Amino acid sequence: GATIGILGGGQLGRMLSVAASRLGYRCHVYDPGANPPAGDVCAQVTTAPWDDAAALRAFAASVDVITFEFENIPTATLDLLEAAKPIRPDRRALSVSQDRLTEKQFLRDLGLMTAPFLPVSDAASLTDAVAQIGTPAILKTRRMGYDGKGQARIMSAADAPNALAEVVGAEAILEGFVHFSHEVSVIAARGLDGQVAAYDPGENLHQDGILRQTTVPARLSGSQRADAVLLAGRILNALDYVGVMGVELFVTPQGLVVNEIAPRVHNSGHWTQNGCTVDQFEQHIRAITGLPLGDAGRHADVVMENLIGDDMDRVPELLAARDVALHLYGKTERRAGRKMGHANRVVGRG
Ligand code: ATP
Ligand code: MG
Ligand code: MG
Repeated sequence: GATIGILGGGQLGRMLSVAASRLGYRCHVYDPGANPPAGDVCAQVTTAPWDDAAALRAFAASVDVITFEFENIPTATLDLLEAAKPIRPDRRALSVSQDRLTEKQFLRDLGLMTAPFLPVSDAASLTDAVAQIGTPAILKTRRMGYDGKGQARIMSAADAPNALAEVVGAEAILEGFVHFSHEVSVIAARGLDGQVAAYDPGENLHQDGILRQTTVPARLSGSQRADAVLLAGRILNALDYVGVMGVELFVTPQGLVVNEIAPRVHNSGHWTQNGCTVDQFEQHIRAITGLPLGDAGRHADVVMENLIGDDMDRVPELLAARDVALHLYGKTERRAGRKMGHANRVVGRG
């Protein structure tokens, strides 16, 4: 069988490796950290920095196709790998989504709704942006932000200097605050042949900037549900995308507003492991290896709850619950705000 190279060995890489092995593939994970969670479950692990050219070349030589579990891989690393083996999804999807400014421009050019936004590089451009967009607004780093890190709220113009100091790294984006009723996401896949399959949208609850819970079905009307799935398909087609993508949406009275896209399997898609025949991880492996996509239909109602930090104390109780499937990431060190696992509660038939 073929070998799949995975950049990044966190829980997403781990669950991709498990799905790949179920399909008869081997995995080689590359991660700069010492004990990547994916390392426990895959045949080969390379722990080397992103700029280790020799390690990258050896990694590329050992695999047939390369994918990734996070989007902030340095450009030079990708250049080197791409010369050797196909990277799926490809560079375009990465470059669009690595930078919140290019991401929002891309979405707007597609005719989709986004929060109003302006680039910010210094105090003067921030003052101008706040004057144009108004408050409340959110200042976000253009690159590398996740779990709400690298963001500062601006409730009034007086907050601007503090916000700029908080969001380290000069390149930022100011977003107008979207008054949404709730947040949903669509997990969708596109195959090598252009076939598209989307999962039912999930409703997402965040706490302290971190995803806490995803519920399917989401509270959406029939037409909102169709809109969500169709706009995800448009994004995938526009990028000639191959693989699974997560599309985060705000639900507003004016329609669905796209928050951000993630060119990978997504935390809000973990419910598919116990709600669908083919989950997002298998779907991604199918897509990048050129297999036909599986059925994305939902056969159950599911509540996915992340186990963050001390939530791990609830593991015995979750193990005792008959309707819960537990997914633990094998992380030995518990830290506040660290995702340690998740629990899928199957609450009914879909
Ligand atoms: P992730 O871990 O999802 O990648 P992130 O760090 O990229 O998170 P965002 O998704 O941009 O952050 O924002 C985190 C959360 O903050 C959103 O899910 C939403 O609840 C809130 N938020 C972000 N942008 C806006 C906005 N323009 N208006 C209102 N709320 C927002
Ligand atoms: Mg993000
Ligand atoms: Mg987000």
